[in-house]
Amino acid sequence: MVRVGVLALQGAFREHLLMLGSLGVESRKVTRSEHLADLDGLILPGGESTAMVRIASGTDLFARLRELMAAGLPVFGTCAGLILLADRLSDDSLGGYERLGGLDVTVARNAYGRQRDSFTAPIDVAGLSDPFQATFIRAPQILDAGPGTEVLAAHEGRAVLVRQNNVWGGSFHPELGQDLRIHAEFLHRLGVAV
Ligand code: GLN
Repeated sequence: MVRVGVLALQGAFREHLLMLGSLGVESRKVTRSEHLADLDGLILPGGESTAMVRIASGTDLFARLRELMAAGLPVFGTCAGLILLADRLSDDSLGGYERLGGLDVTVARNAYGRQRDSFTAPIDVAGLSDPFQATFIRAPQILDAGPGTEVLAAHEGRAVLVRQNNVWGGSFHPELGQDLRIHAEFLHRLGVAV
């Protein structure tokens, strides 16, 4: 049985757990490095990256996760999760707090505007036959994506979903709404037929 973890320090982890359940996949909340054992994949949810890095600081969670990512663990960061994965941020608003890195992108936090500027938009996603209605909430913008990355979806000319080997990052919230297809695409990577 495939088991997918969801980082549950803060943010929209419940919605991801529900989606994984709807897809018939076993899931587990991850708040400590011990919870990373025997996972087949991990989702980093949206929320508030400043809170996540503070909660994780002083623990070995990110260091252990970085090792597992380097060894090939499939990881999908959405919104604040993308901020954790980005190799570069456009500003130093997260201060000296440790992040994960691992995705060769530059990300600008909150660049799609404030909470009241939240929006949904249909995006074409590689591998999906019909557009996906994507929800953007104080979303980070992907300013550039390195040559090793593959852009899976774009909105108004900007990448909003990218993948680099086993690491995926998206600006939007694929767990909001009823559309399971992006989670299903990620699970395909784990060899799960859903
Ligand atoms: N603006 C948030 C941050 O910087 C991310 C927003 C989200 O995850 N919806 O962490």
